[in-house]
Formats: sequence, C-alpha cells, structure tokens
Amino acid sequence: MMKKYTIVLASRNKGKVRELQELLNGLLGEVIELRSLDEVGITEEIEENGETFAENAMIKARAAAKSGYPGLGDDSGLVVPALDMAPGVYSARYAGEHGNDAANNALLLKNMEGKRDRAAAFVCALALAFPDDSAPIRATGAVEGEILFNPRGEGGFGYDPLFWYDPMGKTLAEMTPEEKNAISHRGAAVRQLAVRFARRMGLIEDNG
Ligand code: IMP
Repeated sequence: MMKKYTIVLASRNKGKVRELQELLNGLLGEVIELRSLDEVGITEEIEENGETFAENAMIKARAAAKSGYPGLGDDSGLVVPALDMAPGVYSARYAGEHGNDAANNALLLKNMEGKRDRAAAFVCALALAFPDDSAPIRATGAVEGEILFNPRGEGGFGYDPLFWYDPMGKTLAEMTPEEKNAISHRGAAVRQLAVRFARRMGLIEDNG
C-alpha cells in the first residue's frame, strides 16, 4: 500500500483545506492527507508579521510544524507596480479591516485613478517546514494581469473581479474554479510544491 503523508495546513478554514486537498489529490494521487490547525490542537494565533509573502508562508509553516507533522504555510496577495508594489502583504487588510473585499477593491480603484500603468500580479508563496532539521521546501507562483476600472464577474474572492487576465479575455471572477486553478498564482505554486515534495520523498525520479 502507498505510504500516506500527513501535513498540517496552517489554516483554520475548512474550505481552504478541502480545496487544497483536492488540488493535491489531482496532482499526486491520494498521497497527502491535510489537516487543519484545529484538528491537531494548535489554538494559538499565528502572527503574520513578515515583510514578504515567502516570510509569512514560512512563519505559518513553522507554527504548523510544531504539531509534529510537516507544516504547510501559504501567503498570497496582489502587487501593483504603479502603487509601489502595494497592497502586497497587506492585501487582505488594505483598507484597514481584515478581509473586507468591497472596501479593499474600492480603495484599489481610488488609488489607481490617473495611473496609466494598470499592470498587476497575484503572487502566492508556499512553505513546507519539517519538525526535524530537514530543509524546508518553498514554492512560488504568480499570474500577471491588469486592474480594470469596474468590477466584472461573480466568482472567486478578493480582488478577482478587478483582475483582467488577457490571455483568456476575462477577469478571474469570470472563470470557473478549474479555469482559475489552471492559470492562478496559487495553482502554479501548488504544482511546484507538489513536484518538489514528490522529489524529496522519492515518489518521482529526481532527474535534475
Ligand atoms: P491570504 O494569503 O489568504 O492571506 O490572502 C491575502 C489576500 O490577498 C486576500 O484576502 C485577497 O485580498 C488577496 N488575494 C490572494 N489571492 C487572491 C486571489 O486569488 N484572488 C483575489 N484576491 C486574492
């Protein structure tokens, strides 16, 4: 029988755990069993005070690895060159209140007024930390697009309705979950992490 690896995702969001579990199953078969922080009894609040997505991902990964299982941390957000790379690690609380998508989107549109360069990117960093001394595995993904002047679409979350993805001629909020996964920063980071994890565990041949 195939060995199963338990990994603790540094999240309390059941939907997030389920979604990532399905993505990983699709990539690796049912090799990884994800658990949430609550399922392993980690109740402390993790302070996300890193200056980069990668730092925050590692902070969360290490906190989850205190469970005794490998810990997986993620951090993601929007970066806009015309706004000096804001909102960046503050994406979730750009307008002040954590997770207020409507306020965040309104502030983004306001700050983009008069900007000719509307380029933007979503970035996702993942880190897998081990309870022993073995080196963590990191992965990142990004997707490039443009900030629209008005929202389009009902799907997704966060800044999706304002994020135009030209190769598909729609916003991320107009995509099905499958379409978004195929091109998104998170999809790319998860695929990279899955390959690196499989190599580390000797599940696939390491040919460079
Ligand atoms: P976190 O990685 O869950 O902390 O997400 C940070 C914030 O970045 C979210 O609250 C959103 O505002 C934004 N964000 C991250 N990924 C996406 C995405 O795929 N679509 C839209 N917004 C996103």
